Amino acid sequence: MLDVYDLLAFDNPDGGVWKQGFDISYEKNEWDNEPLQVFVVPHSHNDPGWLKTFDDYYRDQTQHILNNMVVKLHEDERRKMIWSEISYFSKWWDSIDNQKRDAVKSLVKRGQLEIATGGWVMPDEASSHYFALIDQLLEGHQWLERNLGVKPKTGWAVDPFGHSPTMAYLLKQAGLSNMLIQRIHYSVKKHFAKQKTLEFFWRQNWDPDSSTDILCHMMPFYSYDVPHTCGPDPKICCQFDFKRLPGGRINCPWRVPPQPIVDSNVQQRAEMLLDQYRKKSKLFRTKVVMIPLGDDFRYTEALEWDQQFQNYQKLFDYMNSHPELHVKAQFGTISDYFTALHKAAGIDPARGNAPALPVVSGDFFTYADRDDHYWSGYFTSRPFYKRLDRVLESHLRAAEIVYSLALASVQKSGKLNDFPSLENYKSLTEARRNLGLFQHHDAITGTGKDWVVVDYGTRLFHSILNLKRVIVSSAHWLTLKDKGTYSHNPSAPFFQMDDIQPAQDALPRKTVLKLGPKPRSLVVYNPSDQERSSMVTVYVNSPRVRVVTAHGHPVLAQLSAVWEDSTKASREAFQLSFVAQVPALGLAVYQLSEGMDLRTVPADYTFLRQGGELSVTGTEHFRVSILQDGSAHFTVESPLLKIWCSSTTGTMEKIKIKEDGTEQHIKVEFIWYGTTSNRDKSGAYLFLPDGEAKIYTTNSPPVVRVTKGVVFSEVTTNYEHVTHTVRLHNVQGVEGQSVEISNTVDIRGEFNREIAMRITSDLNSSDRFFTDLNGFQIQPRRTMTKLPLQANFYPMTTMAYIQDTGVRLTLLSGQSVGVASLKSGQLEAIMDRRLMQDDNRGLGQGVQDNKITANSFRLLLEKRNRLEEREHSQPVSYPSLLSHISSMFLNHPLIPMAISLDFESASLSPFSPLVSSLPCDVHMVNLRTIQSKEEGGGPSNEAALILHRRGFHCEFSNRNTGLLCTTTRGKILVEKLFSELALESVTPVSLSLMHQFDGGRSQREIQLKPMEISTYRVQLR
Ligand SMILES: [Zn+2]
Repeated sequence: MLDVYDLLAFDNPDGGVWKQGFDISYEKNEWDNEPLQVFVVPHSHNDPGWLKTFDDYYRDQTQHILNNMVVKLHEDERRKMIWSEISYFSKWWDSIDNQKRDAVKSLVKRGQLEIATGGWVMPDEASSHYFALIDQLLEGHQWLERNLGVKPKTGWAVDPFGHSPTMAYLLKQAGLSNMLIQRIHYSVKKHFAKQKTLEFFWRQNWDPDSSTDILCHMMPFYSYDVPHTCGPDPKICCQFDFKRLPGGRINCPWRVPPQPIVDSNVQQRAEMLLDQYRKKSKLFRTKVVMIPLGDDFRYTEALEWDQQFQNYQKLFDYMNSHPELHVKAQFGTISDYFTALHKAAGIDPARGNAPALPVVSGDFFTYADRDDHYWSGYFTSRPFYKRLDRVLESHLRAAEIVYSLALASVQKSGKLNDFPSLENYKSLTEARRNLGLFQHHDAITGTGKDWVVVDYGTRLFHSILNLKRVIVSSAHWLTLKDKGTYSHNPSAPFFQMDDIQPAQDALPRKTVLKLGPKPRSLVVYNPSDQERSSMVTVYVNSPRVRVVTAHGHPVLAQLSAVWEDSTKASREAFQLSFVAQVPALGLAVYQLSEGMDLRTVPADYTFLRQGGELSVTGTEHFRVSILQDGSAHFTVESPLLKIWCSSTTGTMEKIKIKEDGTEQHIKVEFIWYGTTSNRDKSGAYLFLPDGEAKIYTTNSPPVVRVTKGVVFSEVTTNYEHVTHTVRLHNVQGVEGQSVEISNTVDIRGEFNREIAMRITSDLNSSDRFFTDLNGFQIQPRRTMTKLPLQANFYPMTTMAYIQDTGVRLTLLSGQSVGVASLKSGQLEAIMDRRLMQDDNRGLGQGVQDNKITANSFRLLLEKRNRLEEREHSQPVSYPSLLSHISSMFLNHPLIPMAISLDFESASLSPFSPLVSSLPCDVHMVNLRTIQSKEEGGGPSNEAALILHRRGFHCEFSNRNTGLLCTTTRGKILVEKLFSELALESVTPVSLSLMHQFDGGRSQREIQLKPMEISTYRVQLR
């Protein structure tokens, strides 16, 4: 796709009736030998939340659509329909009786109703993480298997705002054969239409052969509504949307209304429609053409079903009974179309490929639907919730894994009645569905109405609370020394989580642990699949604290102040930080108690402010100095890194890797974007800036607070709109390699402004940079001057980097945002946007519900050892192993929980489920207990083990990076994976468990190809 971008002029000339295209002509005799096959595919696009909440849409529209569907499809066997959102379908299914369910099953059996994709939602493909994309697909497919017994074959994505190859890969791995995409830059569409490459095999850019190929249909025109799907002329096509017949609620904006089809006009109307079908067909390589027939929330009323199906049937009957027209037109499902296409294109199902169709690699971002209207605003819109989504993801994954381990252990012990296995499983199921719902392309994108956002946020918030309970009760079982004493009491949890989120729209707050002279146990759960040494910080009620390990060894700890504002420290609470060492997926136990200990060292504080008075209070337990006129810079260092910061702003200016002496100027600053003065302005979807960004400045210099300690050192700058903290971890391992950056952003008082963090280095990166797609893979990018500024922004889910021949600079993130590299050596990430107006994409409001938002990043500078020849022409790039593991640690932090005071005397032991860390490049995406087939739907004794072999670049040295793992060429011996528990059977299945491989035989060895994600059905005993 980068090559295509090179070719295109992005000029947007007027294409006539097909405004963004060109004139299409044909010869009358083209179909004489092989008639045109037309499949009209009725569909109804049901957003699980947008202008209304999920439940309100269901009540007002969706349930009526599905109810009418059962009646209207049964009236005529030739009628067809497709459905894709299982979130809605399952809600409806729960409300209908068995007779109706049987009627639905017979429609599916007869091929009249097809489930397309079959995910929980039609997900956004830019901001979503592959963990959540897989999870919502699995949830939908598992529901279909249990209730309908169908296995979807074709993907259907008409509305996501740009398309990612990650989705193509996941569908392929789930066993789907075909897919359809729609919202793609109009210039790209036109180019593909001209080349007749709208149908292609979409191949992953890292795939050396054709094993990831999936047949993809790109819709050619502006929209998926009826005016833009029958052919190139919307004025004509609109006349064949019979919901717009005169007298109805909607009409045709092209001012020519539809006419009911009667004997006297059928010839003229059929010929007019056929002309459009033929023209559309000319954009494709076969004589099979697909015509979607639907729109948002269509087919709600019985009348609409009659209007569409009866009028179209008359048109088809006319066409089909006139052999001189050389056409066969019919209703079809999306797979009916693809089956005919496979046949016409000579696609060999065994080989998957077809010589007649091209292969395309790359992605389809950033989407523009017209003019310079690029949809890069939504990469950041409602960032509070994009962050909350990531928090739910990490909690869900952590809870799934620890629950699966606890359940297997409980089953082994025979004490199943005491463990809340069903209650926990219900919480997990609800969380999977809430996370799934939020992947919808109006949810995580931040493009819903204010109250819909609140509805999503409340769901995320409740699920996070419930998952904490799952983690607590599972960790309780696993760490309890005497399992005979286990009892679950939901009103008196065994552990107290270290933070509490007070409301759906508020940042979490740390709870203060009460310590006395008696030791209190603190359990630390490591949800990552690597053993790690990471900092744990808890709030305690005393400045005199002692930390010891489970074996009684003292631990070096840092005592820091809890700041109520920039200069006022709390006298009631203190931060206690220490480096916890926790095995992969394991639980470590530490003991905290009150008392003097020389190994707990208070931090030193220095305050800087250019001019102006400063009074610091509450710091009796710390050494504090106030510097008013120092030098221009000061430094902070850890065993591995040293950074130089500006004394005026506290922000970083230079970084040094101590090991090899690599030094790099890296300047961090904040910038503002405004919105254009033109009529069309930035909104939830669009980014339409008023030119280049302006540097963030303040009237008075900010207060800069420098903390130096034995566990971490940090610099905090308090600006009016951002609290910016740069932190170094005094850890010899992975965590010590990168600089942590936390920004707490508050732009609630602003007017049409967007705030970004810009990192300027002296790297010679030219116009090249790299962004991840869905946390799964890296897409090389090029900043192009022929494109407007907003077109050069791309989604970043977990990382972006720039590089030159000597070094690579990676920005890792704990939430999805929009990023760009507008100049050589630069990277910038938009952190929040406040926009006072609608951007005319249907939402009908601006984005003014901003919250105090946490943005967390890591900055990683790496020296490159080996240089690839002709690097610029490589279509593929990979992060280093260190970068992968740093990203995992950032997104899956340690989870500390203190034993509740009621249970203080219980004795705990650490838990270490794996024999060792997984190979460095193998990531356990999930270990997800499968629902039982029995009534009630509790847990079964099987789990889905999902593994991903990460692609990585070996040009980076792993020497002294603190990586404790090794690579094994993707090989894992099953019996050497778990320690106490054993994997009794490991059966390879398709990604979402729909298909079995190799006759369902259990394997003794797992072998993963580079980049591969594979699922195994496993039994843990
Ligand atoms: Zn939609």
